[in-house]
Amino acid sequence: MENSLGNIAELVIKELEKKVRPIDFKRYIMQLTYNEALSKPHSVVFETPNALIANWVQSKYAELIATLFEMKTNIKPAILFRISDDEVLLTSFMEVSKSPKIATIGSPLNPLYTFENFIVGGSNEFAYRASIMASKKPGAVYNPLFIHGGVGLGKTHLMHAVGNVLKDHGKEVIYTSVENFLNDFSRYLRIGEMEQFKNKYRKCDLLLIDDVQFLSGKVKVQEEFFHTFEALKNENRQIIITSDQHPKKIAGIEKRLISRFEWGLVTDIQPPELDTKLEIIKKKCEINRVSFSNDIIQYIATIIENNTREIEGIITKLNAYSQLMGIEVDLEFARGVMKNQIEEKKTEITIDSILELVAKELNVKQSEMRSNNRTVPVVHARRIAIYLSRTLTPNSMPQLASYFGLKDHTAVSHTMKKIKDMIDKDNDFKLKIDELINRVSACR
Ligand code: ADP
Ligand code: MG
Repeated sequence: MENSLGNIAELVIKELEKKVRPIDFKRYIMQLTYNEALSKPHSVVFETPNALIANWVQSKYAELIATLFEMKTNIKPAILFRISDDEVLLTSFMEVSKSPKIATIGSPLNPLYTFENFIVGGSNEFAYRASIMASKKPGAVYNPLFIHGGVGLGKTHLMHAVGNVLKDHGKEVIYTSVENFLNDFSRYLRIGEMEQFKNKYRKCDLLLIDDVQFLSGKVKVQEEFFHTFEALKNENRQIIITSDQHPKKIAGIEKRLISRFEWGLVTDIQPPELDTKLEIIKKKCEINRVSFSNDIIQYIATIIENNTREIEGIITKLNAYSQLMGIEVDLEFARGVMKNQIEEKKTEITIDSILELVAKELNVKQSEMRSNNRTVPVVHARRIAIYLSRTLTPNSMPQLASYFGLKDHTAVSHTMKKIKDMIDKDNDFKLKIDELINRVSACR
C-alpha cells in the first residue's frame, strides 16, 4: 500500500517530534499545517500563522523535513511555507534552483554554494585550495579529497562548490548523502536494475559523498560503496568525501575503506577566526539582500559560536522582525530580538563555568588562575575571568577576591577598571569579551 503524501506529512511531523527540542516542537512545528491542495511530491507546502514561524522553521528544519520526506518517497522536496491568508510563500533553499529536481540519483547541488560565496581564512584555507585544485584537475591530484570538521564549518558548501564548477563544464556530478546512497541502492536492487545503478554511480565524473561517518555499522552499503570507490578511482574520476571526524577516528567502518579514504588528501576545516566570521556574515547579508551596519554584524558574530549555519537563521530573523514591525534594525533592536534566543540557552552562570571557559579559551590552567601566578598570560586570563564573574554572576567583590586568591576587594575593583579601560580603547578586545559573554551565557 502506497502512502498518500498527506499521511507521509503526518509521519514526518511525528518523527520531527522525536528529533527537535520539545519546546521548539510546541512553539513552532505544531503551528504548521500541511496544505494538501498545494503540495506535490517535489514541493511540499505548509501553512504557518506568521512569517516568524515560517522563517524559523525554514532556517532550522527545512533541510531535515525535506530529508525525512525523501526517506519515505525517494524524492527530496522543496519545503514551502505559506503564511495563512497571505499570498507569500517562503521557500527553502532548494527553490532557488527553480525546478526542484526529482532525485533519481543523488540530490541537487545548492547553486549558492560556490567558491565565490566562500570566505577563505586561515581556518579553511587548505581545504579551500584543495577543493579549487579538485575543480581544476578533477581526478588528477588529490583523489579522494577527504574534508573533515565540525558542524556548520563549510564542508558541504565546499564540495558543492567543486560540483557546481564541474557541472558548468558539462560534467556528470553526483552529490549524495550516505542515506540517499543506501536508498538508491535498495531501490535499484528491488526493481532489479542494479546495472543502471552501477552505471550511474561508477561512471560519473565527480562523486560527492557527504557525512560519510553515517556509513558506520552499515556493512552492506560499505561493501557497495567500496566497489563504487574502486571503479571511480581506477578511472581517475574525482571523489570528494566529508565527515565530522578524521577517517582514523570514524568507528564502524571497514579497514579497507578507511585506508582508501586516506589515499588522497585528508584535510580539516577549523572553526572560523573572528575576521572570517565577520566576512561570512557580510557575505550572507549580501546574498540575502539585507544590509546591516557594522555594529550589527559584529553583534551577530558574537552571538554565534562556531556553527556558521546559525548565521542565516539570525539574519532572516532580524530581517523578518524589522519588516513586520516596519523599523530599521539597530543594535538595540537586534539585542531585543536575539534576547530570547540567548536567554533560552542561559541558566545559571557560575564562577566555575567562567573559569573553565576562560582557561580553555586562553590556554591557561584553571589552578594557575586561582593561584598567585604572576606570568602575563595567567594575569590576563584571571582579569578577564574576574570581569566576567563580576558582570554575569551575583558574587560580591570580596567573594571574588577570595575565589581568585586576591588580597581583598580593592584588587577586584582595580581589575574591573583595568578591563573596562581596555574595552573602551580596543575594539578587538571588546569583541572578544562580548564573544566570551555570549559563550558563557550559552554554555549553562
Ligand atoms: P558543514 O557541511 O560543514 O556542516 P555547511 O557547508 O553546511 O557546513 O555550512 C553551513 C553554512 O555556513 C552554509 O550556509 C555555508 O554557506 C556557510 N558557510 C560555512 N563556511 C563558510 C565560509 N567559509 N564562507 C561562506 N559561507 C560559509
Ligand atoms: Mg554538511
